[in-house]
Amino acid sequence: MKLARLFAALCVLAVSLPVGADTIVLKNGQHIRAASVTEDASHVTYHTDAGQLSIPRSIVARIEHDAYDGSSAASGSEQLPLAPPEVEPVPGDEKVARLAVHDHAVDFGYIARLESEARTGSSASIAKVAAAHYAAAQYFLHRGETGSAIEQYRQGLTFAPDNLGLLLNLAVLELRDSQFRAALEPLEHAQSVSPDSPDVAKLMGWAYYGANKTREAIEEWKRAQKMRPDPEVQQALEKAERDQAEEASYQEGETAHFTLKYYGGAAPDLARAILRALEDDFNDLASQLDYTPPEPIGVILYTEQSFADITRAPGWVGALNDGRLRIPVQGLDSVTPELAHVLKHELTHSFVGQKSHGRAPTWLQEGIAQYMEGRRSGSAASTLVTDAAQGILPHLNALEGSWMGLSGDSAAVAYAWSLAVVEAMIDAGGVSDISRLLDRIATAPSTELAVQETLRASYGDIEQQTITYLQREYVH
Ligand SMILES: [Zn+2]
Repeated sequence: MKLARLFAALCVLAVSLPVGADTIVLKNGQHIRAASVTEDASHVTYHTDAGQLSIPRSIVARIEHDAYDGSSAASGSEQLPLAPPEVEPVPGDEKVARLAVHDHAVDFGYIARLESEARTGSSASIAKVAAAHYAAAQYFLHRGETGSAIEQYRQGLTFAPDNLGLLLNLAVLELRDSQFRAALEPLEHAQSVSPDSPDVAKLMGWAYYGANKTREAIEEWKRAQKMRPDPEVQQALEKAERDQAEEASYQEGETAHFTLKYYGGAAPDLARAILRALEDDFNDLASQLDYTPPEPIGVILYTEQSFADITRAPGWVGALNDGRLRIPVQGLDSVTPELAHVLKHELTHSFVGQKSHGRAPTWLQEGIAQYMEGRRSGSAASTLVTDAAQGILPHLNALEGSWMGLSGDSAAVAYAWSLAVVEAMIDAGGVSDISRLLDRIATAPSTELAVQETLRASYGDIEQQTITYLQREYVH
């Protein structure tokens, strides 16, 4: 199929095939379905229809060799590799919890009354407010509304800023959301309240590790181990130490919004040119999406044969975004048009991921990334319109999770269709619609609900509008 060639080169994830029985789980929670997985000290290697691929060992959480369960494949970063410590803000205050949440709803009136009592200051009434917000947060968590749960912890902390339970529970949710800098805030406060807590040190280590501060992560985890040995922390510590050893051999560059590392001495000019291109892309995306990522984005250029060896494909294919942009540039000495596309595409994933708190579905992620890199639907339009008429286009809710189970052809259709949907949305309402949608997705219980609220349209409406748009714009 012609589409396959057009789209197969976009992402490492797009060319993985559901053959064989191994799943490579990346640290960011993404799954790569692959055949013939082998590993050595520094790399994990596997086979796809694009040839043999290698990724650095340091981004892999684990390799699962058991039978594949398609429903468990998920993109995003929902798994916290360390179990959160068990903490309760007000042990035994079940009465407050029962009054704060009853009849399948949060009693905001009751919480407001507790809050006005607490403003007059007794420590007992402040403890009650903390317990009530904790109970409300649990309620929202059970409904999958993480944003509302975070809000409840924050609200509780305005009354009880030193409550360790609220601080740690808030931090755990931020960590699960990959909001590592945000997580450091409650954790630093928790550390000042309880400097000898191994739980605080354990979570701080994770926050630093996620924020690419490997050295600080190692320090915290060593401290945690001294206070209370924990096999989970030990494992994380060993992994971080391996990363540090590997990264020690990289050279570094830095701009306002990026920290860049590259291996080997051959590429300082290329590195500078890439940073310039990324800064331009950053400013463009920040103004289009009305969002500025709070932390510098890590970029790693792979200039060495050993890693950039995405065999039988040009060196720039197979860029990867696992929180850092990992870009093979072997054989390049300038920013070619193809490399420029890859940079913008991968950087867009960072913006969309962070703005939506890691909750943007795959179709929206890939649709926006392709749109921003400059792709349009012209060459795919007539195929998509024909497929739609035959009823064989995938529905958007089938494209929300991981695309790992898709065959090469299906993945190509998924890319083309996702681009068309995003293109039609932008044609109708401008990029500002996309920006508002991403904000809503960050806190909404589901993407379809967020689409409904933001665009006043169901998935079915969106799909129909897209076909109408393709016919009007491209098919004559
Ligand atoms: Zn992509």
